[in-house]
Amino acid sequence: MPRYCDFCNSDRSDLLVAQKDIIHRCAPQDREFYLRKCRDCGLIYLDVDKDEDLKCFYPKDYEFYSDRNLYLYKLRYAISRAVSTPYLNLLFALVPFSGGIFHKLLQPKKKDYVKTIKPGKFLDVGCGSGLNTHFFGYRSSIYSLKKRGFEVIGVEPSPEVTKITQKYGLKVLPSIFELEERDFDCIRMNWSLEHAASPAEYFKVFKKLLKRGGRLIIAVPNYDGILYRIFPDCVEVPVHTYYFTPKTLEAYFKKYNFKIIDRYSFSYPDMFILASHALKQGNFIRLTSMQTIFFQSLLNKFDAQMLGNDMVYLVENA
Ligand SMILES: [Zn+2]
Repeated sequence: MPRYCDFCNSDRSDLLVAQKDIIHRCAPQDREFYLRKCRDCGLIYLDVDKDEDLKCFYPKDYEFYSDRNLYLYKLRYAISRAVSTPYLNLLFALVPFSGGIFHKLLQPKKKDYVKTIKPGKFLDVGCGSGLNTHFFGYRSSIYSLKKRGFEVIGVEPSPEVTKITQKYGLKVLPSIFELEERDFDCIRMNWSLEHAASPAEYFKVFKKLLKRGGRLIIAVPNYDGILYRIFPDCVEVPVHTYYFTPKTLEAYFKKYNFKIIDRYSFSYPDMFILASHALKQGNFIRLTSMQTIFFQSLLNKFDAQMLGNDMVYLVENA
């Protein structure tokens, strides 16, 4: 039976990638998964039966499901803040060969859009344990936002986190579709929309839950990024069900009447090393720290063209 495209309902598609679960190794290793690209709108999706339960293919030990690291999260955040201060950069510049300019090149430009949101009703879809966030650290977690006066609700399908979220007094539901509250000022999906069974269903719910003028923050891997151009079959199947590009994600924003306020993409050399390991290709395995610095500075140039490995959007409910 043909699968219909989530965005445009077309049943015409081409096979793009056939791959096994090489990243988490939770699915049987003889099972291949298929990515298809819609011929009409270009959306790339995992071709599985809509009713197939993919939960059993998730690793049980995601870092984001744990609370034993709360102090570590805080410490890590404090260090990353400290090293990004101009004073420390000056210090780096004064020490020969540690290089102030190189130090700057080491970090891709990332903006945490949550900093632009005033305390209000905040929904975090895919919040994990609620104590840390992918790339943005402890400070952006719903636990930290709650302490700073936000009214927070999380959504996390993994039952592993329930004990932790209860311990920290966080309200976390297993599904966004069970939510009764309305009038949110902000909804965030940090690296979770690519796991959805149907992005369209999420966009319909966003329209219901968000205030007019409310903000939506979405971060997803960018299948248009340099990483996937070099390693197109380095795909996180079957846990990632959609492989967005700026074009296909922005098409959803347009269809559901969200106005783009800001966007950026970013990359880390580590991702290329992990990809070459997962695919058992040795090209990127060994990089000296100097090579890493120059590789990062090269990647930063692509990031500015929206060709980074990950992309982040801040949009408004128009
Ligand atoms: Zn389509």
